[in-house]
Amino acid sequence: MTFIPYGRQDINQTDIDAVVDVLKSDFITQGPAVPAFEQAIADYTRSQFCIAVNSATSALHLACMALGVASGDTVWTSPITFVASANCARYCGADVDFVDIDPDTFNLCPVKLRDKLKKHAAEDLPLPKVLIAVHMAGQSCAMKQIHALSLEYGFRIIEDASHAIGGRYLNEPIGQCTYSDICVFSFHPVKIVTTAEGGALTTNNAELAKVLSQLRSHGITRDQDDMLVKQSLDGDWFYEQQALGFNYRMTEMQAALGLSQMQRLDEFVERRHSLVKDYRELLGNLSLLLPDCADDYYSAFHLFIVRVPQGSEVRKRLFEKLRNNNIGVNVHYIPVHFQPYYQKLGFRKGQFPAAESYYDGALSLPLYPSMTRDDQQAVVDVIYQFFDELRR
Ligand SMILES: *Cc1c(COP(=O)(O)O)cnc(C)c1O
Repeated sequence: MTFIPYGRQDINQTDIDAVVDVLKSDFITQGPAVPAFEQAIADYTRSQFCIAVNSATSALHLACMALGVASGDTVWTSPITFVASANCARYCGADVDFVDIDPDTFNLCPVKLRDKLKKHAAEDLPLPKVLIAVHMAGQSCAMKQIHALSLEYGFRIIEDASHAIGGRYLNEPIGQCTYSDICVFSFHPVKIVTTAEGGALTTNNAELAKVLSQLRSHGITRDQDDMLVKQSLDGDWFYEQQALGFNYRMTEMQAALGLSQMQRLDEFVERRHSLVKDYRELLGNLSLLLPDCADDYYSAFHLFIVRVPQGSEVRKRLFEKLRNNNIGVNVHYIPVHFQPYYQKLGFRKGQFPAAESYYDGALSLPLYPSMTRDDQQAVVDVIYQFFDELRR
């Protein structure tokens, strides 16, 4: 029996040819493919600047640095996310705190955010310097409300849109940064489009774009206009290291693959929507809770997350049943504050009840563009069998 994963890349001959062309060219890093890929993302998202990097984790780190996150600062994010959304603040020496989720969207809840800001302001508790809004499963957070709070309380906003390229919010492409300072994408193979490993940042702030692209490459600039010490320009070879940056660059092969994948981005997301529609029909008669999507939100559907209302014990048995039938279901995510690293920082179970009760029932069913109707039927058949057995 073939294995059906929860997510996987879709690579065609055009993608392969694009990568091979780069391998035969003069530049396999720091050539023309990275700027071309960046331009394609900026065009697609209707943002002014795009900076491609070697992972979304690197992108989140640079985004925090560029916004000045440092020791003594606090960054808030959702407990239902991949650990990288919180770790990026720790790389900068900052503290992390979480805002509980909305149980309907699985995203950071704007009402709980407002209440927490109010409480922290009143009781002289730490307020966030930056809030990282994670677009869970590909559906945007309520950015308008979050943005309004950012103006009131003076924090900056990073969108972690690792799941969400190709999605829209209020009819604007996610990544346009209308309600944020910086938006981050991931191109890991399970995400919407892939570069194997890779990530990107979009922004409309020219100063941030400059800082981000310097930090991506050692904090170095070669642009004469940006030199801090004008007279030190000894010759055309000259460069200045102005900050402590990293080597977070993307290769030309990755960028060529990404550029080729971008041609099919809309197709990928439409295919995901079509599979979700079929899942809704096929699973509608079961007690499983299916995800909701309000009108203003066009999800990229990175994940199709159902919830098992009977809770963690039944979810575990369904997970095992599917895995035993070669179906690669998964759970997104273990609440970040449950991780031993975060427990050591003082977080405790019980602190974010909506996230914790979401976690008890969540299960990500397979969803990827090349998934066939037969694959989907195989998944659904096992789920029906499971609930038949449960009733007996
Ligand atoms: C995948 C993911 C990341 C990290 O992406 P990488 O490109 O693997 O570094 C960060 N945040 C979220 C929400 C993710 O799903």
